[in-house]
Amino acid sequence: MRPDAGHSAGDWKHPCHYLWRGPMYVKQNGDVYPCCQSYMLDGAPVGKIGEQPLADIWNSEAMQEMRRLHAAGRAGEIDICSRCCTTIPHPALVAGSLILHGRTVRRLLPAIERLTYLSKLPGRLLRPARRKPE
Ligand code: SF4
Repeated sequence: MRPDAGHSAGDWKHPCHYLWRGPMYVKQNGDVYPCCQSYMLDGAPVGKIGEQPLADIWNSEAMQEMRRLHAAGRAGEIDICSRCCTTIPHPALVAGSLILHGRTVRRLLPAIERLTYLSKLPGRLLRPARRKPE
């Protein structure tokens, strides 16, 4: 992780796919986080296994609020997301990830990243979402 990484509120153009397709992250004590990055970034859990069904946590107000802000291009207003340096793939890749099995996508992503870094694919496929300057 890069401590100096992160995205300001105006940087976001594409929503983070993790909030719609998972996987969520479950800690050994049952705390549930929206994604693995939120746990790494000391974010607050959005629920607890044993107290609520996972489906209810997935559709909880906290998750819906995160999705609303991401969809509105305001993900930078979420503390953990503003400090997150995960790759936000182009929506075309995200759409593909909804068609293909998650395991297949996870296997393909490193290859796509390698191809992109070797300049065989356009870098914008993996760059964090950024708004065009106004
Ligand atoms: S931007 Fe980072 S912290 Fe926010 S939901 Fe996506 S992976 Fe998690």
